[in-house]
Amino acid sequence: MDSPENFAFALPVMMLTFGCVFLAVGRFGSREAYHWAAGFLCAAVAFSLPMVLYMAPQPVQALTAEAFFLAAFYWYGGALLKRFNQPSRFLLRTTFCVLVYAVLAYTVLVLESLPVELVVSDAACVILLAFAIVASFRHAREPIDRILLGVASLIVLETIVRDVALLGFLSSAPSPDEFESSIYAFVMQAGASVIALLFALSALAATTLDTIAQYRHAAERDSLSGLLNRRGFEEAAKKLQARGELSGVVIICDIDHFKRINDTFGHAAGDTVIAWLADLLRARLPKGAFAARFGGEEFVAFLPGGGLAEGGKFANVVRQAFAAADLKEIGDTGKITASFGVAIVNASEAPMIDHIGRADAALYAAKKAGRNRVMLEGTPAREAPAIHIAS
Ligand code: GH3
Ligand code: MG
Ligand code: MG
Repeated sequence: MDSPENFAFALPVMMLTFGCVFLAVGRFGSREAYHWAAGFLCAAVAFSLPMVLYMAPQPVQALTAEAFFLAAFYWYGGALLKRFNQPSRFLLRTTFCVLVYAVLAYTVLVLESLPVELVVSDAACVILLAFAIVASFRHAREPIDRILLGVASLIVLETIVRDVALLGFLSSAPSPDEFESSIYAFVMQAGASVIALLFALSALAATTLDTIAQYRHAAERDSLSGLLNRRGFEEAAKKLQARGELSGVVIICDIDHFKRINDTFGHAAGDTVIAWLADLLRARLPKGAFAARFGGEEFVAFLPGGGLAEGGKFANVVRQAFAAADLKEIGDTGKITASFGVAIVNASEAPMIDHIGRADAALYAAKKAGRNRVMLEGTPAREAPAIHIAS
């Protein structure tokens, strides 16, 4: 059987590695990565102190280690609170740590009792972690969040069991040396190390998955309009198609004479107009619908369920709202309009791009017929009846 001392090297190295990995993850914009980094680095220092400070007097060793353990759990709790968007409770948690540290100092310097020191320090760490778990519990929706909180709860449980067992052990064999060399201590340390590893891994998985989701979201969004981009639209359509739910209408829309806006008022004014149309579109999307800026001043929307009549109605609502937009903000006194083409999307195997192609033909017909109108697919394409909005 290995001696417990073997863990002395494993734990600080493991904690240091995770601390550095979290520092790297933090650079990619993760919300709580730096909190995790601080926690694991403090734990690395705490676990390595017996090797670094072995020449120092015992109370110095003990109180330095306790400070770093408290700090580690302060940051773990902070990381969980941050992850689940809970208030950091800085004042409450810091005051708690200061008070606990005062008790620890008294225990080490005056009482000189190792068991009391261990129990006080472990209880404080458990409270710091349990506080964050309880505050975050209701907000854990993703499986990885539940795993993370589950492993954190395991740490709480393991610490309580360990302390109760330790007190029991010490009452039968009161020598600390005897305790440290026991199989019991070995098993306890091994168990704690495995749980610590699981904790670090689940925290890392959670932050990494967040970062991937964040970049994926950005890769599927158009930054100017806030709508999906072409890739995002195609992905959303593919997901629906895979579930056999891609059925409804597709609407393509292109701003009329957009070059005039750019040429007369500048590119920035053109961008403002693009964002306006995107806002109008987004605000009116029914449940389950999604829209994208396909490029330039061209937009595509998918509306589930309905047919050409519903698609035409939706397009006309957007068209009329856009034509009524006040252009004074960009310095224009005229009117700006957009043309629309609508096509059916049936639940066939045909790719979305085919349906968009038919909507595009209808849009072309709308441009040819004089713009500022909605055309429904067909041979020939026909105009959707305009909606009369009571004023
Ligand atoms: P039509 O009525 O036939 O659609 O006329 P149009 O002037 O809108 O013609 P077209 O679609 O060919 O012109 C699109 C213009 O949109 C050309 C390009 O300079 C401009 N454009 C493309 N992307 C952007 C953008 O991100 N911002 C701005 N401001 N302009 C853009
Ligand atoms: Mg255009
Ligand atoms: Mg265009």
